[in-house]
Amino acid sequence: MTDLQTSATDRHRVVVIGSGFGGLFGTKALRKADVDITMVAKTTHHLFQPLLYQVATGILSEGEIAPPTREVLSSQENARVILGEVRSIDLENRTVTSHVLNRTTVTPYDSLIVAAGAGQSYFGNDQFSEFAPGMKSIDDALELRGRIFGAFELAEISDDEAEIERLLTFVVVGAGPTGVEMAGQIAELAHRTLEKDFRRINTRHARIILLDAAPQVLPPFGAKLGERAKKDLEGLGVEVQLGAMVTDVDERGLEVQDKDGGRRRIEAVTKVWAAGVAASPLGRTLAEQTGAPLDRAGRIGVNPDLTLPGHPEVFVVGDMISLNNLPGVAQVAIQGAKYAAKEIRGRVEGRPPQPPFKYFDKGSMATISRFSAVALIGKLRFTGFIAWLMWLGLHLVYITGFKSQVTALLHWAVSFVGSGRSERTTTEQQIFARAALGRLKGGASDLVAHPEVYDAAQDLINATRADLEAKAAEEARLTDTGQRGVKQDATTG
Ligand SMILES: Cc1cc2nc3c(=O)[nH]c(=O)nc-3n(C[C@H](O)[C@H](O)[C@H](O)COP(=O)(O)OP(=O)(O)OC[C@H]3O[C@@H](n4cnc5c(N)ncnc54)[C@H](O)[C@@H]3O)c2cc1C
Repeated sequence: MTDLQTSATDRHRVVVIGSGFGGLFGTKALRKADVDITMVAKTTHHLFQPLLYQVATGILSEGEIAPPTREVLSSQENARVILGEVRSIDLENRTVTSHVLNRTTVTPYDSLIVAAGAGQSYFGNDQFSEFAPGMKSIDDALELRGRIFGAFELAEISDDEAEIERLLTFVVVGAGPTGVEMAGQIAELAHRTLEKDFRRINTRHARIILLDAAPQVLPPFGAKLGERAKKDLEGLGVEVQLGAMVTDVDERGLEVQDKDGGRRRIEAVTKVWAAGVAASPLGRTLAEQTGAPLDRAGRIGVNPDLTLPGHPEVFVVGDMISLNNLPGVAQVAIQGAKYAAKEIRGRVEGRPPQPPFKYFDKGSMATISRFSAVALIGKLRFTGFIAWLMWLGLHLVYITGFKSQVTALLHWAVSFVGSGRSERTTTEQQIFARAALGRLKGGASDLVAHPEVYDAAQDLINATRADLEAKAAEEARLTDTGQRGVKQDATTG
């Protein structure tokens, strides 16, 4: 176990959990503060989740939406980044304990910002995840990319009509922004990008189904924009099925119950789950220690200044919180984290507390296909090409790093002006590695040794080192003395 009694200085220690929108923007906002920051995150990158669907459908590479956090923060001298999944937070002793591949690290703090976000929720049916991956991480997006492009490949070599139909049916569960964007892009893939690439199958015959138990598409955008999005999707060839609740998912399809109680089955190999979110389980840890309430999605109730009840030194921000019906969007996390950072800096500098956190709604948007989107900004509604241009500009600004902005723009030109996809590469690992790891009891940790095992292995390495050195010397001597390829005399040989 490593004890990070960190700082070389006596400065105020801030620990930030998570490298997403909340974690990164909170850390950056403390750039000029007289504090030492340790960011603990379970991935080495900052993920721009709103563009995950473009990685899954071959438009962007994973690197463009997930720059290394270490690089992003390299010039911020008061911040360090450590890799690890936080599994416990000790509010009394003010420590955070994280784990990565059989290593444990304990990091003490004076102030804590918890920004661990949310994961996918299968509403108590986690077994669905094996057959219908969610859309929360780079692993999810690459697995889906493999499944989507792989389905067309398998259909091309099949002679069985029913199987071809099953392989060319794509079901997206959840008609929120992610589901809408995903369904629109699969439709563009099938009906436009891949049209000329296959010889036996007609990719234009692919069925793309977007279904949701709710009665409308994009509920947070209001009825009018929801209806417009539905129409645009249908124009692209997407079948929108509303009031349809998924009751079971398996390898070959899913069971659906309609509003009238009728049950039916959809045969589809590729399913995408874009339906529900569950806040990080760290919320439960914090709730147990403070008595703060948790809502149905596992979000924790915080004070109006985003602190935990009884713990003014702990801020929780972003998708993990339940406060005044704030939505689970990037701006809530960014603004909340900046607010927390300002408060911490103010305390260190002896300033009075700020008024309660106030969210400024900058609007929401969702793309439907190339050149078509819907956007809601205040009371203003935008649709079609104008909304799409707004989407383009905004996403370009928020992609982290100039390099990624330039390459994303090039890839968008390839996909939107042309009809290609620059990132269609898929590997077996993308599709099957997660299932293989899931079968190991300890996951990836089972594949690596505990640090102490290295010491035992070292003895073995030292024992063989002398043999290896002798062998290398002999090889070099043979070459240097010109004995290679020379017939050996049996008596001297
Ligand atoms: C597919 C998709 C599309 C979206 N589209 C939009 C959109 O168009 N517009 C919009 O405004 N919002 C969108 N959102 C929502 C937006 O991405 C989130 O609201 C935002 O990311 C929340 O920020 P956060 O910091 O709370 O969490 P996240 O950004 O999710 O960050 C959480 C961080 O915590 C880390 N972490 C989690 N658990 C642990 C742990 N135990 N230990 C250490 N680290 C941990 C994660 O690795 C990650 O770095 C979308 C979300 C998804 C999934």
